[in-house]
Amino acid sequence: TNGAKKAPNPSPLRNSKFFQSNMRILITGGAGFIGSHLVDRLMENEKNEVIVADNYFTGSKDNLSKWIGHPRFELIRHDVTEPLLIEVDRIYHLACPASPIFYKYNPVKTIKTNVIGTLNMLGLAKRVGARILLTSTSEVYGDPLEHPQKEEYWGNVNPIGVRSCYDEGKRVAETLMFDYHRQHGIEIRIARIFNTYGPRMNIDDGRVVSNFIAQALRGEPLTVQLPGTQTRSFCYVSDMVDGLIRLMEGENTGPINIGNPGEFTMMELAQTVKELIDPKVTIKEVENTPDDPRQRKPDITKAKELLGWEPKVSLRQGLPLMEEDFRRRLGVPKDA
Ligand code: NAD
Ligand code: UDP
Ligand code: UDP
Repeated sequence: TNGAKKAPNPSPLRNSKFFQSNMRILITGGAGFIGSHLVDRLMENEKNEVIVADNYFTGSKDNLSKWIGHPRFELIRHDVTEPLLIEVDRIYHLACPASPIFYKYNPVKTIKTNVIGTLNMLGLAKRVGARILLTSTSEVYGDPLEHPQKEEYWGNVNPIGVRSCYDEGKRVAETLMFDYHRQHGIEIRIARIFNTYGPRMNIDDGRVVSNFIAQALRGEPLTVQLPGTQTRSFCYVSDMVDGLIRLMEGENTGPINIGNPGEFTMMELAQTVKELIDPKVTIKEVENTPDDPRQRKPDITKAKELLGWEPKVSLRQGLPLMEEDFRRRLGVPKDA
């Protein structure tokens, strides 16, 4: 069914570590939003075998349904805070809830996922000699005092706030990556991901692009959190996946910012969504949450120079692609 092809010449050693022609790639958090798009892209290459390890906290098997049963694909229900013993060549370590409402839901678990989870994946990388990429975040810059943010900026982060489980967690994860690199010679890559959007985002995960699109389609007011002048820069998911693969297969450890430098205020974003989806919806100003960064925009000079990467999809091109997916999942056809 749906694309599950038989391997042309199935060898009895196909799934053993002696079968060397394939690149065996582990994606932690591969059932999530970015992870599942990364799986799709890596599965296009017939030389890749992809293994996803995910505990389904925010991800879902539905995101991977087209690969379940494929001979080059494997899905493991696994929590990265527990050790994992497998043989792989590459580890894309994404496992971690990314939306504030989910990472604040059980903050201690979020820290464990970032710290113990990353430690385990580094232990795995060390044991099998795999290269490991961490998806860090622009949140390591906190509420930045430099704009746009360059990789050299050390950030302005509250260590005891409600977001700290996530941003300090990712900062420790970056530290662990570099200590394993210096102490054990592990090959590491660190991507600092800026706000990313696209199909398969959780409809009710509370992030701004998914909120506004779902609200517009449901005919509800778009909730702009005050002051509305705070900015973000939104990267379409296909561009993100392309950047992550280039980073993994390139020569630089990073950290490297991967994001779209197009910067918008949340009020501008609301107006754009309104105009594209339904000019009749209203915009409602609501209270914000603590420690919300006031501005965020990546300096992507490094990604351009070192990876030959820059985003191709603008916000106005990407929003309709996400709208299409949300219409299908919410059952709101275009002409309704
Ligand atoms: P997501 O929530 O859709 O995906 C995260 C995945 O990790 C989910 O499938 C979830 O079930 C899994 N997971 C969570 N905790 C786990 C655990 N303990 N063990 C195993 N699996 C676990 O989020 P996303 O947007 O796809 O983000 C992926 C990565 O990118 C995350 O590391 C996130 O911090 C990073 N990132 C994302 C953005 C963004 O805008 N989407 C921005 C910056 C960084
Ligand atoms: N680990 C893992 N898979 C492996 C190897 C190690 O999950 O294939 C875990 C291991 O359980 C440990 C962590 O990674 O908790 C760090 O491993 P490392 O060998 O660096 O440290 P040590 O085990 O000596 O503390
Ligand atoms: N935001 C908003 N309305 C919403 C959800 C979020 O105005 O319904 C704002 C929020 O205050 C923040 C920005 O959008 O300034 C981005 O929030 P999100 O949670 O998407 O991502 P992050 O804060 O992690 O960048």
